[in-house]
Order: sequence, then structure tokens, then C-alpha cells
Amino acid sequence: MRFAAIGFCLMLLHLWVAAGGGAHAEVTGQLLRIGVFCSAVGATLHRRVRAHGMARTLWLLLALALTMQVLWALMILASVLWPAHAQGLGMGANVLSAMYTIPCMYLITSAFTGREPALVKGLDAGMSVLLAALLILLISTVMGGDNPGDPAAIWLAIWHADAIDFSLAILASVRLFGAGTTSRRYFYWITSVFLWCNATAAAVFNRLDMSGQTWWGPTIIDLAFVLVALMAWRAPPTWLRRYRPSLQTVRTIAAFAPVAIALGVLILGISLSRLNFFGGAAAVLLAAVMYGLRVAVIQSQHEDQADLADRSNQQLQRQLGVDPLTGIANRGALDARMRETLASGVSCSLMMIDIDYFKQFNDSQGHVLGDRCLVKVAAALKSTLQRSSDMVARYGGEEFAVVLPDCSPEATDEMARRLLMAVSHMRIPHPASPLGHVTVSIGVAIRRHDWMGEDDTTTALFQAADRALYQAKSEGRNRIRHAGYDAGQRVPAFEF
Ligand code: GH3
Ligand code: MG
Ligand code: MG
Repeated sequence: MRFAAIGFCLMLLHLWVAAGGGAHAEVTGQLLRIGVFCSAVGATLHRRVRAHGMARTLWLLLALALTMQVLWALMILASVLWPAHAQGLGMGANVLSAMYTIPCMYLITSAFTGREPALVKGLDAGMSVLLAALLILLISTVMGGDNPGDPAAIWLAIWHADAIDFSLAILASVRLFGAGTTSRRYFYWITSVFLWCNATAAAVFNRLDMSGQTWWGPTIIDLAFVLVALMAWRAPPTWLRRYRPSLQTVRTIAAFAPVAIALGVLILGISLSRLNFFGGAAAVLLAAVMYGLRVAVIQSQHEDQADLADRSNQQLQRQLGVDPLTGIANRGALDARMRETLASGVSCSLMMIDIDYFKQFNDSQGHVLGDRCLVKVAAALKSTLQRSSDMVARYGGEEFAVVLPDCSPEATDEMARRLLMAVSHMRIPHPASPLGHVTVSIGVAIRRHDWMGEDDTTTALFQAADRALYQAKSEGRNRIRHAGYDAGQRVPAFEF
């Protein structure tokens, strides 16, 4: 309220002083204008204090842009007070008005998702600086040419300034309709009203200047600043609070915004190259490189995030007891089922199943087909099991383990045969194997329910099954062997 009231009163005073005319009207008027501009800076800084998160940065950038205008007005005042230095001070004012586009461009074109890497933020700021530098180069080329006062050159500068001012206003409005939160919509609402008003006032002011200034002309510049102070004091309008863009719109506009600044630099560079070929061409090249770098950084960040998501998915699956490659149980789940079975006092049959000549399979078919083969073998083993208490797990590499709780030696043996056949019947081509297709070897160990041993049964059962597997391998593979560990239960070995 305070800033709005001060700004409004100062603007009325400015109008009154301008209408009255007189010897000191220009200096007083300029001082009053500086006061109006300062009230707008105060209003935006006040809003910043009440904002949260990224909105604070946005308000600060707007305050910075308005501060540039305060400095511009001070430069103009100095040139009125010291006419001897008017040319240098006038150039300084032009530089400051070009620098005003830096925070403006940045706040409109940067995505502000809060997730951009520092390098991307730096590149966005760099492109805003590049745009301002181009503008300064353009103004100095136009003004400092062979014929500095040439109206054609001044008109060229005015048209460029208009193009930039109205582009800023259009971009701010686009951001307004693509802002995801009410606080951002409120910010871009005020910013776009300011930019539209400022662009129109500057266009009218410059044209009046060219055709002979009117007494009220200089005061129209104040209007946009008073509006900022007034709007920052008022709560957001109802339609703005009700408006909700879709997530797709928010993301598309935030992703597109940075393209606008690269386009701006390109267009200005091309336009400048007509007057200053090397300056314009260098700007076009630099804009292309900076934008390319920006795309590359974001692309690599996306790939990192996809990797991270993949890894956390795998970690989650492991925690859930699932082997990420084959989708069957993992070693952790297998150990848990073994402990459960042994603790419950029922018999426990364990099979270690190992793919034959799998190293050669990888060597001849490649690791991708090797992985696919593991997936197929795991699926075949799993679909062969019948009871919900039976479990097949990936023990590691190309080894699987099957636990059959409370299963008789005969049923265990029947199951081992079925598992062996299930893999063999898939006829997965394996040129390096004597049979020409993928086979497995199985080592079986059973702990009877009345077993009275003292040692760590889980480890002992694994060792026994492993020994049996080793025997199956050494006797030619593609066969089942039994461990003699099962307290007297011996089941005949099968060969295929
Ligand atoms: P044997 O008949 O005696 O079992 O011979 P083998 O070649 O199958 O056994 P060895 O232990 O020498 O080699 C196992 C191979 O399994 C080595 C490794 O390249 C492969 N392997 C282990 N884990 C994976 C995996 O996750 N994917 C793929 N593609 N290969 C794997
Ligand atoms: Mg092995
Ligand atoms: Mg093997």
C-alpha cells in the first residue's frame, strides 16, 4: 500500500510539474520519475520478503530489472545537469537500458524448475548477457556510425528496442499461462502487465521524441512502474487463482522458454550482421554453441536420472527378494525359505542347478543372448514347480537353486527329472555344447525331517547339493546326482 500510494502521488506530481513547465521542470520531473521507479523497486522487494522458494528469486530478478531503470533515469538526470558530458552519459544510459534486459530475459526464459544443474543456469544467464551485449553493440554501431544523428539509424535502434520490449511482454504472458503455481502465476501476471505497459509507453515516448515531444510525453514512462507498485499491493485476481494449466502445458512452456532466448540472440545477431558482420556472426555462433551445450547438459542429466531410477528399481527388487534379471526369487529369499523350512521341522529337499557350458554359450552367442537364455531357463524351472511352498531362486550367475519343503525323496527325484527335461525341451541352440542345445546339471541333497545332526544345516545342505552337482558335472553334465548327505536315503542317479 505504502509504495503504491507514494508512486501514484509522485506520478501525479510529475504530471503537474510537466504541465507547469518552467526552468527546473526537467530536473524536478526526472527526480520525481526516479522516485516513482524507486517505489516500484520497493514494492517488488517487499513482495520478495513475503514469497517462498523459487518465487523469491523471481521477485529479486524483477527488482533488479527495475533497479537498472532507476540507474538509467539517474544517468539521464546527470546528462541534464552536466550537458558538457551529455554524449558520454547518454551512451551510459543506453548501456543501462540494455542491461535491464538481462534480468528480464533471465526471469522469463529460465525454466526455474529448481532441478537445473548449475551449468544450465550459468548458460541461461550467459545468453541473457549475450543478448544485452548485442543490444549495446547494435546501439553503439547505429549511434556511432559515420552519421550519428541520422534519423534512419535512430529509427533502426527504436525498431529493435520495440521488438525486444514486445518480445519480452509476449514471453512473460506465455509464462503466465504456463505457470504451475498461483504464486508464480501472480508473479508473471504482474511482470507481463508491467512489460506490456512499459513496451507501449516506450514505443509512444520514442515516437513522440522523434516528432517533437509533448508536455505529457515523459510522464507516460512512469505508468508501468506505478502499475507494478499497485498490483504488488493487491491480492491476485480471482480468475488468476482459478486458472490451472495442465501439467503438460506447464512442462512444455518451461522447456520451451529457454529456446526463446537463443532465438532472440540469433535474430538480433542476424540483424546486427548487416551493420557489423563479425559481431553478428560471432553472436550467432556463440548462441548456437551455448544452446547446444545446454541441450547436452540436460540430456546427460536425464540419462543420469534414468540410470539412478534403474538402479534404485533393481535395489528395490533385491530388497523385495526378486532377482532383477530373471524375475524369480533371489538368494536372500532362498535363504529365508530354507531357514523357515528347516525351523519348521519338515524335510527339506535342495537342488543346485547349473547351466552346462554356459561360458561357451556367452562366448559364442554373446552376453545379450546369454541373459535371455538365463531368463528362459528361470521361467522354465519356475513353471515346472507345482506347490506354492516350492521355490526356485537364482543362486548367482548361471546357477539356480530349488527348495522343496516336505517332499519325499521319490517326489524330489521326479521333480529333478522334470526340471532337467523342462530346460532340455526348450532346445535353446548352443552350438558349443555336445548336444547342440542348452542343458543343465542338477545336484540334489535332502535333509529328512527326523535328521538329528548338530552342524549348521543350511550350509551343510548347500555343500552337499554342491558336491552332488560337481559330481554331475564331472560325470558328463546334463544329469542329476544325489548327495549321500540325506541320512541313509539314497535315490538312484539318472542319466539322459
Ligand atoms: P560348466 O558346464 O562346468 O558349468 O561350465 P560353465 O561354462 O557353465 O561354467 P563357468 O562357471 O566356467 O562359467 C559360467 C559363466 O556364466 C561365466 C559367466 O560369463 C556366465 N555368467 C554368469 N552370470 C551371468 C549373467 O548374469 N549373464 C550372462 N550372460 N552370463 C553370466
Ligand atoms: Mg557355475
Ligand atoms: Mg555352468
